[in-house]
Amino acid sequence: MRGRGLKPKTLAFQAEERNIFFHILTSCNLSCRHCYINRAQHGTNTLTRETIANWLKLFYDPAKLSNLIFLGGEPTLHPDLPFAVQTARELGYQSITIDTNGFLHHDLLNRLTPQDAVLSFSLDGPAPEVNDPLRGRGVFDVCTKNIHRAVDKNFETSLIYTVSAKNISHLHKMPELVKGLGVKHFFIQIIGLRGNSAISQANEMQITPEAWLKTVPPIAKQAAELGLHVIYPKVFLEPGEPFVCAGEYAENFFIFPNGRVYACPLCEDFPIHAYNIEGNTLRENSGLTEKKFFTLHIAEGCVMNKLLQPDNLRYKKDGSPNHRISCCLLKQEMGGAKKLLDNTY
Ligand code: SF4
Ligand code: SF4
Repeated sequence: MRGRGLKPKTLAFQAEERNIFFHILTSCNLSCRHCYINRAQHGTNTLTRETIANWLKLFYDPAKLSNLIFLGGEPTLHPDLPFAVQTARELGYQSITIDTNGFLHHDLLNRLTPQDAVLSFSLDGPAPEVNDPLRGRGVFDVCTKNIHRAVDKNFETSLIYTVSAKNISHLHKMPELVKGLGVKHFFIQIIGLRGNSAISQANEMQITPEAWLKTVPPIAKQAAELGLHVIYPKVFLEPGEPFVCAGEYAENFFIFPNGRVYACPLCEDFPIHAYNIEGNTLRENSGLTEKKFFTLHIAEGCVMNKLLQPDNLRYKKDGSPNHRISCCLLKQEMGGAKKLLDNTY
């Protein structure tokens, strides 16, 4: 119904949920300018189907609502992805999503059914002229063609648009495109400081807090008015709104094929992962790990944001921050009721 649910709702962390972000390989057929994968930290392994099955068992918790998202690199490059999805379904994972760059390798659409998984496509522009300089020549056409195919086959689909200085001025054209493609869920992501975007083009791709606030919430509202379910990061907390670090209060596992497991995605470029998988056992690491940062409570909100992206903080004359930065995992939702996960660019 038009106009329903148009006030943004903050999606609070749920104690009864466990979210598994599973990178089954790090290789990819693309080389996006802002790729967040850091192979120096996470290696170049492709997990075997046996290891995938073992690790899916390791992280499934029957006492919780277990949500699973398959990531890469490009997860559809893994020939055993349908096996992995099937294994996860048999174990009892409640929701399964595949984040893809749109290439859908290994005939994926004919090897899964719409009941098996949600397909989440990354697209960073409303036209090839905007998307392809960021994601690669010809990618817009392949991705949109495969979205059409997935929608025609009745797969539930979402689209992730990573906002950066290179495409923020084109975001307003996305709601109509997403709607026209028949995609129901629209995720607006913010460019981070991981992988490529932390190294080569950090300054030229980052956006200011002012640009985000002026642009993203109004366009999210437009998208919701078109009937789309929209999710975007909270980023700035309202005065009086409590700050919560997901690392302290939620169960999120970001698993890499070299056995590293992080609780916070902002930490992924550093060897401070909270856990390692050894054999088929999850072991908590000692010493200086990300968990030490989660308990530091500072006026600016997220500690990792202050360490990695101090430029997005602004201060009043008395030294207090203009805004506190929320946990990067805290999302705003409009226009829908179904929770879906995303973490990629
Ligand atoms: S961002 Fe995703 S699609 Fe792009 S190069 Fe990296 S892994 Fe591949
Ligand atoms: S992004 Fe910040 S607030 Fe969220 S888990 Fe990481 S350190 Fe905690």
